[in-house]
Amino acid sequence: MKNDTICAISTPLGRGGIGIVRLSGPATYPFLERIFRDKKGKPVKLSRLPSHTVKYGFIREGTQTRDEVLLTVMKGPRSYTREDMAEIGCHGGLVPLKGVLRALISVGCRLAEPGEFTRRAFLSGRIDLTQAEAVLAAVNSRTETGFSAALNQLQGRLSRALAELEENVLSFLAEIEAEIEFPEDGLPKSSGSSYRKRISGICRKAEEFIAGAEEGKILEEGLKVAILGRPNVGKSSLLNILLAEDRAIVTDIPGTTRDEISEMVNVSGWPLKIIDTAGIRQPKDKIEEAGVSRSRTWMKAADLILLVLDRSKPLQPEDKKLLAEVNLEKTILVINKTDLPNKLFPSPLSSPQGGEARIKEKLPSTLRGEGGVGWEFTRVEISALKGHGIKKLEKTIAGFISEGKVFSGGGNPVFLALEQETALKNAFADLQKTAVALKERLPLEFVAADLKRAVGYLGRLSGRQISEEVLDQIFSRFCLGK
Ligand code: GDP
Repeated sequence: MKNDTICAISTPLGRGGIGIVRLSGPATYPFLERIFRDKKGKPVKLSRLPSHTVKYGFIREGTQTRDEVLLTVMKGPRSYTREDMAEIGCHGGLVPLKGVLRALISVGCRLAEPGEFTRRAFLSGRIDLTQAEAVLAAVNSRTETGFSAALNQLQGRLSRALAELEENVLSFLAEIEAEIEFPEDGLPKSSGSSYRKRISGICRKAEEFIAGAEEGKILEEGLKVAILGRPNVGKSSLLNILLAEDRAIVTDIPGTTRDEISEMVNVSGWPLKIIDTAGIRQPKDKIEEAGVSRSRTWMKAADLILLVLDRSKPLQPEDKKLLAEVNLEKTILVINKTDLPNKLFPSPLSSPQGGEARIKEKLPSTLRGEGGVGWEFTRVEISALKGHGIKKLEKTIAGFISEGKVFSGGGNPVFLALEQETALKNAFADLQKTAVALKERLPLEFVAADLKRAVGYLGRLSGRQISEEVLDQIFSRFCLGK
């Protein structure tokens, strides 16, 4: 474990009201004492100041004044890393921030690696790995829903829930081992059914975490939404209206290829990553390529499909094709152009019986209920031109997501690093094996072996059993200065 003193600029580089340079490590105050002067130009004995005090003064490098600053002193263990720490509030520009950083490096501070402050907080035991991950999720959050879930996790909700699961598995293992070791010891003989009940409860809990991780991923990366429909039904108009107002989330989306340009919008707390299927932000030649085959690719890639129909025209063969091909479970039918006379269906779609029955007639037979496929398209009528029905569409989308139609999240999102997610899935697989072993009445030694492996995997989630290399990978995703 490194215990040198590190420093980094913690605020974004660019113009800003203020910027912060952060330090952590045993030499924080000796280093600062060499470059910090009070308003009279005198050195200050920083190590003698009480913790959590703020001092006004200047950062000097040789005879040069680097900036006028406010210095906050936070002494270990009452600090983020549990080490001695300081934050230097400077003017928020590149020159003052870099000047202060250079002054620190000139007296012996080392430039921190990305996430190194949080890594120290983890290594000192102040937070566990799920809380470290929550720090990253909080910084990266795109909507308030995501942020409040991250904050919950940071405060240890997930850590406690996982500890409880681990404890359940451990006490189960202890009982099984006792029974293996002292079969005649007057201990109650394992009643197969009570064991099976216990393991199925444990499996259910682990499964909930896996679903929560999926939900967390969607909050972090956005739900992939494709707007499909034949030309001129109003896809671009709908995309534009979704991007308008305050919904657009301005951010660079990692993993976006040139081929798949997408926009992030916030719909009732859910970040939606809308794939630009309408091609309004793609070069012309790309649009020309677009056809049914491209729609198929989008259908597969999307978590949610908005299939747009034009109400002012009778249903076209291309509409029918799309209706037949989209996955009913993840599609919302958007009937556009309600400001124009209805030619799509002879009677208004919203009329309870007539409309619905007639839609059924027009739909391909596979969607009418024959062959066991229920007719259950969720649908909303809008006018993208007039902006009618957009709130209803948003509500429908949010409802669709929270009802668990798009993924199996149970409303308890959790944020995990890839390595943690893999460990969780491996633990779940071993717990399931345990359940099978109990069901098939295999010798208890097999059951114990599966449970032991599951315990090992669960330990990786909190970070108690994790290698340096994996930690390197996890923390390298963090920002500098975090
Ligand atoms: P896309 O090809 O599916 O992307 O369709 P566009 O969004 O480019 O729209 C095609 C045409 O339909 C344009 O002339 C739009 O102005 C028009 N349009 C789109 N939505 C509506 C609507 O709700 N009502 C009316 N009357 N026209 C619309």
